[in-house]
Parts: sequence; C-alpha cells; structure tokens
Amino acid sequence: MKMRKILVSGATGRTGAIVLQKLRELKTEFIPLGLARSAEKAQEQFATTAEFFFGDVTQPDSVKLALLGCQGLVILTSATPKIKGQPIPGERPEFEFSANGTPEIVDWLGQKNQIDAAKAAGIEHIVLVGSMGGTNENHPLNRLGNGNILIWKRKAEEYLINSGIDYTIIHPGGLLDAPGGVRELLVGKNDQLLNNPPGGIPTSIPRADVAEVVVQSLRLAEARNKSFDIISKPEDDPTAVVTHDFAALFAQTTPGL
Ligand code: NAP
Repeated sequence: MKMRKILVSGATGRTGAIVLQKLRELKTEFIPLGLARSAEKAQEQFATTAEFFFGDVTQPDSVKLALLGCQGLVILTSATPKIKGQPIPGERPEFEFSANGTPEIVDWLGQKNQIDAAKAAGIEHIVLVGSMGGTNENHPLNRLGNGNILIWKRKAEEYLINSGIDYTIIHPGGLLDAPGGVRELLVGKNDQLLNNPPGGIPTSIPRADVAEVVVQSLRLAEARNKSFDIISKPEDDPTAVVTHDFAALFAQTTPGL
C-alpha cells in the first residue's frame, strides 16, 4: 500500500495529540504531520518538535504551507471557551472566547481555510471531528459565551460536504479522558442517540476511542463520504461487546449530514 502523508490540525489538542501518536505508530502506512500553534506545547507533549508544522488555521497561508505534499487532512481544531472572571461559589460560571478564538473565527473560518487549502492542494480525504447536538440550534452549548459553536461547526461541515473532497464527519458525544479500545461503540445520525440513548446510557465516548475512529476512517473505504454520531457503552455495561470491527461499524453509517 502507498504511504500517505496526513496533516493533523489541533495536534496539541487532547484528541488531536492521540491521533498524531496513533498515526506515528502506523509507520508503514502513514507519514503524519501535526499542525499546531505552540512549539512549547508540542515539545512538552511529544518531547520533540519534529513532524510538526507551526501555524494558525485562521491564516490561510500557513495552512497552505502545512498541506504541501499531503494526501489527507484530519481537522481537530476547535474554539475553546474559558471561564469568565472569578467564578462565584454557588453560582454557575460564565464562559467567554478570546477575541480571535471565537467559534465563528476558529470553527467556521478556520475550518473553511483548511478545506479551501485542501481543495487547492488536491487532498483526497478529510476527516473532521465535530460534535453531537448540531441539529438543535437551541442546544445549551450554543449559548456558551454566546458563541453558537455548534451552528458554526455545522456550517463548516456543510461546506466540506459541498467541497467535493471525500469526507468523514464524526460527531462524538461528551468526550472522556479514559482508556480506549475497551468499549462497544454505537453510531447514529441526527442526534437520535443524544435524544434517545439506548438503555438510557450516558452519551459519552473516550477521546482515545474517537482518535481510533479517526485513524480507522483514514484506512477503511466504508468510512468515505459518511457522517455519523458516535458514543460508547459504559465500560462495565454487561451487554457490551467491545468494538474491533470498524468496517462493520462504518457500514452502518450513511452519507450527508
Ligand atoms: P481541544 O483539546 O480543545 O483541542 C482543540 C485544538 O484546536 C487545540 O490543539 C488548539 O490549539 C487548536 N486550535 C484552536 N484554535 C486554533 C487556531 N487558530 N490555529 C491552530 N490551532 C488551533 O479538543 P478536544 O477536547 O480534544 O475536542 C476535539 C473536538 O471534539 C473538538 O472539535 C470539540 O469541540 C469536539 N467535542 C468536544 C466535546 C467535549 O465533551 N469536550 C464533545 C463533543 C465534541 P492549542 O493546543 O494551541 O490550544
């Protein structure tokens, strides 16, 4: 099989770093390159800045340079809300985004820049990690810092589908920092799992499992031109059968948002 060079944006993020590490371990299949803003953060996480390109997705030129020679792109950038001021004990914290880190700038324009640059570079396949909840404009996440984060993410996903580049759009439930590879994964569409989870299970999934789904999406034809929601059964669920067959999992998914 021909080696493919894959750019992973958000590579110093919590899921992006796991994807980059997994791709590094598949040495005969992938040549991974992380796109990150901070060399210090990359050095801290990976003990090296080799195999990184440093740039900002809000700057189209830096994305263009990062994509030189790549065949695939994994989009794992996201605006991140921060707690506003000092939280008052007993009261709900308020959130805000930095002026150049709003969802409109990072999740819409930043992702649009990545998709435009990918199209210009002839990229074959983009794997984009978004979020469940996008079918509900009144979802509470949209109110965080008045950022409308799910609305901007969804706009970028529509833009990707219309770009003509092969896509895989992954909408995880709440992300957990827990071990991967030990749970049954469940796929769905249009927030059905969120609104009606089977057995009332929590609608969450470890970041490590999302990262594995990203990697398998790069490998398996069954994930091409698909968009899906994904959660996991709890690790101790007696009905769970740990997911190993990703082709069968992706075969349950469908094209379009
Ligand atoms: P994360 O740790 O918040 O990582 C976000 C990444 O985006 C960081 O690496 C950040 O860079 C990078 N970034 C932000 N603005 C950038 C810019 N202008 N240029 C370049 N890079 C930029 O992500 P996560 O928690 O793993 O989440 C992964 C995805 O899943 C996100 O899209 C998130 O919204 C979504 N999701 C999250 C949840 C949840 O429960 N949190 C649930 C469902 C879906 P730095 O490393 O420099 O900060």
